[in-house]
Amino acid sequence: MGRLVILGGRESGIGTALLGKEKGYHVFVSDKGAIKEKYKQVLIHNEIEWEEKKHSEDKILNADIVMKSPGIPDKVPLVKQLREKGILIVSEIEFASKFTNATIVGITGSNGKTTTASLTHHILKQELNVGLAGNIGDSFAKQVLEEDFENYVLEISSFQLDDIVDFKPHIAVITNITPDHLDRYDYQFEKYIASKFRIAINQTKDDYLIYDADDAVITNHLKNNPVQSILLPFSLTKSIESLPVGRHGGAYLEDNNIKITINNNQIIMPTRNLTLEGKHNIKNAMAASTVSHLLRIRKQTIRESLENFQGVEHRLEQVLKINKVQYINDSKATNVNATYYALESMDTPTVWIVGGEDKGNNYEELFPFVNEKVKAIICLGVDNEKLMRTFGGMVDVIVETQFMSEAVKIAYKMSEAGDSVLLSPACASFDLFESYEDRGRQFKNAVRNL
Ligand code: ADP
Repeated sequence: MGRLVILGGRESGIGTALLGKEKGYHVFVSDKGAIKEKYKQVLIHNEIEWEEKKHSEDKILNADIVMKSPGIPDKVPLVKQLREKGILIVSEIEFASKFTNATIVGITGSNGKTTTASLTHHILKQELNVGLAGNIGDSFAKQVLEEDFENYVLEISSFQLDDIVDFKPHIAVITNITPDHLDRYDYQFEKYIASKFRIAINQTKDDYLIYDADDAVITNHLKNNPVQSILLPFSLTKSIESLPVGRHGGAYLEDNNIKITINNNQIIMPTRNLTLEGKHNIKNAMAASTVSHLLRIRKQTIRESLENFQGVEHRLEQVLKINKVQYINDSKATNVNATYYALESMDTPTVWIVGGEDKGNNYEELFPFVNEKVKAIICLGVDNEKLMRTFGGMVDVIVETQFMSEAVKIAYKMSEAGDSVLLSPACASFDLFESYEDRGRQFKNAVRNL
């Protein structure tokens, strides 16, 4: 089968190594950093050759095919060398999808991927044999090897899409597109948009693309770059008649009911029964339900599943109520758009914990919500200067700290019955924390210790 070199020894890399070995490749795993002990054990146990803390060019540049982990940028010299030599570089979803005939639902977008993918999987699994993979849990490659599900819901980042060749989901979802990760796209938003749309690049007229028709970035791109797939838009503001594509259908809102029509078959769901709060979650529910409807899940099952879905950790997660103050963990809000929806969904006075590693944020779209709902701001980052300057004039109280426990204690003191304390940072976590999960867990621990 040839020589498969895997750059990056984490979840997707190790999964690909196992699948590649099983399929007869000679596999070599190389990681510039340290490989976690649990992954080393898997490699050793499976007699797969590997190295860490270096890339040995003599063992890499002779590859027939390379699987590059999504975290490795194209500008890395080794990647450039591989491309110059004409060696095929693919992502894990590209590699693994070659070895399954399963029906694939691919979900991408700037925000809402994990929520929508988890919700979709939650509905589908009631009636179908379905796996959930991508950036969630066990790698897709490992599941293809060990589980061989008939259907997969995949959460797919733009980095995974950059290195696809033939990958084609039967149903694709683009939740929304707002500027993010631009450092990987030469600071050109257009390039990032094009990357997201690669999810539909191999689709044919028998496949579906579900997307947010309220998102002008998406609709404009579609206008100028038509796709082959059947378009199924969803919208909070447009009526079915004014949705861009009436022929096959779509999802829209009428009298607080979600209505999804596909080829004249309609399903209706009251929004008040959704367990997830916030307008963005109505959109996520629309996308997930449209997928489910396409895959012929019973309407009753879809409705019930939406009513009992418990949400995903760190996404507007209700932590505890203390002295009638609700504490909410939205640590996964690592960009302004996610925080926009968090603040939008607040219906109480809010003490807002914000900050971290700023990715060139423009906070302007948050101003109306801050003026209306936020009573105090706690900046939690190494450098809080920009936040203090931006919001200083807008609220009565704005303070800064570098410690989660202190942030939570201040929030506790500042809040009163009926308020909420919201951690929705709008920034990456790496200045003070290991990851957004670490930040969210520290928040929850601090709240529990109050
Ligand atoms: P992703 O996997 O794309 O990062 P998540 O589902 O993990 O998306 O959510 C990331 C953040 O974005 C959370 O703060 C969440 O509350 C918020 N969010 C979820 N869905 C949407 C959406 N449709 N639009 C905007 N923000 C969203």
